[in-house]
Amino acid sequence: MLDVLRFGGVSAGPHVLVTGGIHGDEYEGPAAIADLMAQVPKLPLQGTVTAIPVASEMAWRAGTRCSPDDGLNLARTFPGNPEGSPTERLAAEIFAIARECDYLIDLHSGGVEYRFVPLAGFYTEASREAARHFGLPVLWQLPETDGVLSCELTKLGKTAIGCEYLGGGELSLRGASDYVRGILSCLAHWEMVPAEYVLEKETATYRGDWQLSEVEGVFRGLVQLGQDVRAGRPLAEIRSHRGDVLQRFGAACDGRVLALRNKAYIRPGNWAVLVGEHV
Ligand SMILES: [Zn+2]
Repeated sequence: MLDVLRFGGVSAGPHVLVTGGIHGDEYEGPAAIADLMAQVPKLPLQGTVTAIPVASEMAWRAGTRCSPDDGLNLARTFPGNPEGSPTERLAAEIFAIARECDYLIDLHSGGVEYRFVPLAGFYTEASREAARHFGLPVLWQLPETDGVLSCELTKLGKTAIGCEYLGGGELSLRGASDYVRGILSCLAHWEMVPAEYVLEKETATYRGDWQLSEVEGVFRGLVQLGQDVRAGRPLAEIRSHRGDVLQRFGAACDGRVLALRNKAYIRPGNWAVLVGEHV
């Protein structure tokens, strides 16, 4: 059931895995992979590109972040379990492919529920260099989260980045083309395609994690995506249907709004707002 595309180059070299559709409501990754795999055969590629355009067919067909079969979030399920639930088995199948690769580029977006500024996330110094070459304006020092494909591969010593580009359940065509150019630039950085594909862009690096909802209600964002904020600035609130404020969110530090909840109805544990601190 898993659709895996592989293209071996004209000579030996590194092996890169590109994944999209880990969440079933994110469209830039699959669109970029379709475009990329049409271009790759025309390139003097050294090494191998493996691509999984839609990692979770179950979630993709449902148009949801998590799988309808078992309710699991594939991006919290790696390295998976070949004897487990449908999502756990899928994670194990993908992880077996991923552990054969040297590099991972995991393409996401905010899906229906969230929106991100275009960014490339990293863990190690090598993945920070890859993220910088991806050419998006923001670099995000990713929190270490068990079960995330890029995080689990980093534990194995691989170089992995995770990218985000808007969301809201839409397909950004600019996002898809920026993703293709970013992947080609990383391939050039890893000396798999000619250096002319390297993107030279200014980047700014941020760290930080999401603030979570503790209540159920209607989310009101009070800032814009990408806005610079000062410490203490009100960012968002959650209200009841009668208008009572149930929870307020404020900036803990000076920084930039890297992501916001998109869907209005919010439940405990949902992501609300992410302010990145400039580093
Ligand atoms: Zn995602």
